[in-house]
Amino acid sequence: MSKKEDTKKKPRIGVFVCHCGENIAAMVDVKSVAEYARTLPNVEFSTDYMFMCSKQGIQLIQDAVKEHNLDRTVVASCSHEQHWPTFAKAISDLGMNPHMHTQVNIREWDSWVTDDREAATAKAKRMVAAGVARAAQKEEVGTEKLPITKRSMVIGGGVAGLRAAMDLAELGIPVVLVEKETSIGGHMTMLNKTFPTDECPMCTLSPLLNGVMSHPNIEVLTLSEVTNLEGSMGNFEVEVTTKPRYVHDNCTSCGRCAEVCPVEVKNEWDHGFGMRKAAYKPFPQALPSVFTIDMRHCIDCGSCVIACPVEAIDFSMKKEKRTFKVGTIVVATGYEEYDPTEITAYHYEHPDVITQMQAERMFSPTTLTKGKIVRPSNGQVPKTVVVVQCVGSRNDQVGNEYCTGVCCMYGIKNSRFIKEHLPDTEVFFCYIDIRTPGLHYEEYYKRAQKTGIRFIRGRPSSIEPDPLSDKLIVDVEDTLTHTPYEIMADLVILSAGMVPPKGFGKLGGKLGLLRAKEGFAKEYHIKMGPVKSSRDGIFLAGAIQGPKDITQSVGHAGGAASAAAQPLVRGYLEKRMDTAVIDKDLCTSCMACIATCPIGAIVVGEAGQPVVNDAACKSCGACVPACPTGAIQIRNFRDRQLNAEVSALLSAAKAGGSNE
Ligand code: SF4
Ligand code: SF4
Repeated sequence: MSKKEDTKKKPRIGVFVCHCGENIAAMVDVKSVAEYARTLPNVEFSTDYMFMCSKQGIQLIQDAVKEHNLDRTVVASCSHEQHWPTFAKAISDLGMNPHMHTQVNIREWDSWVTDDREAATAKAKRMVAAGVARAAQKEEVGTEKLPITKRSMVIGGGVAGLRAAMDLAELGIPVVLVEKETSIGGHMTMLNKTFPTDECPMCTLSPLLNGVMSHPNIEVLTLSEVTNLEGSMGNFEVEVTTKPRYVHDNCTSCGRCAEVCPVEVKNEWDHGFGMRKAAYKPFPQALPSVFTIDMRHCIDCGSCVIACPVEAIDFSMKKEKRTFKVGTIVVATGYEEYDPTEITAYHYEHPDVITQMQAERMFSPTTLTKGKIVRPSNGQVPKTVVVVQCVGSRNDQVGNEYCTGVCCMYGIKNSRFIKEHLPDTEVFFCYIDIRTPGLHYEEYYKRAQKTGIRFIRGRPSSIEPDPLSDKLIVDVEDTLTHTPYEIMADLVILSAGMVPPKGFGKLGGKLGLLRAKEGFAKEYHIKMGPVKSSRDGIFLAGAIQGPKDITQSVGHAGGAASAAAQPLVRGYLEKRMDTAVIDKDLCTSCMACIATCPIGAIVVGEAGQPVVNDAACKSCGACVPACPTGAIQIRNFRDRQLNAEVSALLSAAKAGGSNE
């Protein structure tokens, strides 16, 4: 290479140091960092500015690139996650390769983690020196348009899943809705009323239920679960296993099978307040409107087969596995009510201690009590009811520190319902704090206060069966007046919190999703990415991301559907190719990289060598140290680039007298 050519290719780097208001400037002398940057090799221009991400800041960068003929930029500001795309786009708009931008994080990694201004400024300089050295080694990386399968899958048929499926379908996207139960609708179908309007939940939900069932773009699979997932965003292959219903779709829902079936068991859908047969439909409006034979309880008498007028019952039906190609997935597997059994002081095993969901079923006109409020132990009308809040929520002893957020409202709703139907019954409402954020929620609570419900600020220490009567003794101290109470209750209703559904750990593992410590699916960013999961192409809708009421779940699901639709509507996937790349000459096909990749992005190619699936690769770098020959590298994170960065960091530290 001639000396002239060498000079021509010399990098021309611009450094831009951001104050981020006081976020950085309060702890880092940004002007001295910008001055220092001017002394670094290959730096042609350097400056500081109050907000680099502002319109004026972007303009400043673009003007400097043009004026100084820069071919790469370094912005020292916040995290790569937050603003690399902003500044990469700024130079891309000028026709440069966006990968020629380098982000140096002097906020989260520096100004926010110290109160020593001198040390923070010195560290910022070292970090800028390292960033400049890496920028000088950067290579141009392409962005490819990858084909995508225009179909989405929604896992979970509760209100959030239904909303997401409907929104996707209305955008013209074919949807496969996978529900593990016999019917769709989820918890909302079990409720008696919904706050703050006290509407009938089924009346509210039915249009959506019917709309989903009859939508030409939606295929509903009940009794089905995802059993395997392969591929990556844009082209997932999802294996779905469907259990046999033992009743074909020509079932007219006449119910003759249930009439003749001799087996009666508790109906799970009624939470112990209703019975069903082994040939059953969980509730009258259940969709699909097809009966199911419960083989766990069926005694194989064959009565239903004889009774069925359309010969729909078929005991030879088998489990089926189908594989669906989909571009995106929405996970809407909802929540479960916390099981209070482990709080032994509350004696949940006592028949007159029930949860709010059980209360919802008891209050419903279709159950055994026909909507009457009774003591389950003897069927008598309760004279004293105690409602206990925060059962399994805000309780670090059971491992759930979080506030479920909706229990105050549903506890108030059911307390009001009791007072409306049994005005002479005393209702005590024991709470830690009342939490009613949201339009019309506080007003709902205020109206409840006027009904005669006695609000006691305190969490009961125990609920004990009285040895001398059939009552329950609720011990609670009113922490506002420091008055201890011993309430003799006929019925206790526990406002049990929302927890992730059992089995979500297994499903989350199959989908490759990260989970929060509470067990819910971890969102990408709590504020800016609440519907995006930790895995590209998989989105979260409703309470699987954290406790939500119906309103919040529906809104969240709409966001998830919109996010899941975007690449499908666009019709292709735009993938930055700063992914892993294998040097075939160095590769010995030991396959160590395949075993190491956490998301299975490396597969065995036709020639028997490992091949990187660029669409799936997350550039995590796990494969790089696993390769014994150094054959696998990440574009723009190659050894030479990282070595340059580390060397510059050490040199800057040495020059500054630091021994860090
Ligand atoms: S399976 Fe047959 S008998 Fe049972 S509801 Fe369906 S049509 Fe009626
Ligand atoms: S065969 Fe099973 S489901 Fe059918 S009637 Fe007999 S017990 Fe009920």
